[in-house]
Amino acid sequence: MSQSEFRARARRLRDARRLIVKVGSALLVDAKTGRLNRAWLETLADDLAEAAGRGQQLIVVSSGAIALGRRHLGLAAGRLRLEESQAAAAVGQIRLARAWQEILEERGLAVAQVLLTLEDTEVRRRYLNARATLNTLLGLGAVPVINENDTVATAEIRYGDNDRLAARVAQMASAECVVLLSDIDGLYSADPGRDPNARFLPEIREINDAVEAMASGPTSGVGSGGMTTKIAAARIAVAAGSSLCIASGRRPHPLRAILDGERCSWFLPGTTPLAMRKQWIAGTLKPRGRLAIDAGAAAALGRGKSLLPAGVVRVSGRFERGDTVSVVADGREIARGLAAYSSTDAALIAGQRSAQIESLLGYSGREELIHRDDLVMLGE
Ligand code: GLU
Repeated sequence: MSQSEFRARARRLRDARRLIVKVGSALLVDAKTGRLNRAWLETLADDLAEAAGRGQQLIVVSSGAIALGRRHLGLAAGRLRLEESQAAAAVGQIRLARAWQEILEERGLAVAQVLLTLEDTEVRRRYLNARATLNTLLGLGAVPVINENDTVATAEIRYGDNDRLAARVAQMASAECVVLLSDIDGLYSADPGRDPNARFLPEIREINDAVEAMASGPTSGVGSGGMTTKIAAARIAVAAGSSLCIASGRRPHPLRAILDGERCSWFLPGTTPLAMRKQWIAGTLKPRGRLAIDAGAAAALGRGKSLLPAGVVRVSGRFERGDTVSVVADGREIARGLAAYSSTDAALIAGQRSAQIESLLGYSGREELIHRDDLVMLGE
């Protein structure tokens, strides 16, 4: 595949409204000295600032806490026990966050540290909360820098690798594109270090057994992700409608390099995150409640607007924020969506203007009862 073909593929990176960039420990931390590769990080930060300048919303998933912390605690080389890696993460994370803060703020970007555990992406209520926080940060123009909360994550409830964490975050944030920056430039049919006939795979549209079999490739000594976790991440991302790219971070300005047509491997979905989400909402077997709406609101929904409390005439059923509800006009279900309020609160604000929400509920929630991104017209 030629450079211009790679450049054409890279439009997925350039056009993504939301972009996740995962940076592996092997890139961030020098294996010999255990110190941060600051000069390299500066070049990545330039690329991120460029992306932000194009109007893209960015999330960084950064490894490196354990690798940075172990040196400060004088832990010997080799495998760490769980308690040791938890201790190393506690020491390293504070340094990692500071480095990101300094480097991104110099480029005019506000940085937010977000530490997640497996439960934050797997337990629905926590997932919804984490998602709302990410949306708020992104809406305010901040760059969340995410890592696993290694200090509290025990063996059984741990991701252990940031590749899959990045893919889960992409799903949570409905990001169109994920870039896994790694010490290898993509997926090969065999380990290129050992097999001279190893083929490079520029584009993968289906993650089948043959692709899985290629995953037994290289692992570096510093991070915990090998090709296996990258393929697992690709599976999650693609299922959520996101494109995922494995690219080399072993060069300065790694994102610019992708845009300029350096080779990398793209895993491509057949759909978009928004379409996936809507399909999932429409497919809910049992909506928890019903919102009967007036003709004006029904017409507005038809024009692609959100559902405001003002257009709701009756709330029935018992539901929590984030549950799927049916939207009914003239006795017919015309749409489904995720309620931004519980049934109790929805009943209080139904028929009222959004500006009244705070005085009615005692807190200022969302302006919409169902946001249009969380709403699907049936028959759409
Ligand atoms: N969360 C780990 C750290 O920050 C890294 C996990 C990984 O290497 O993927 O050290």
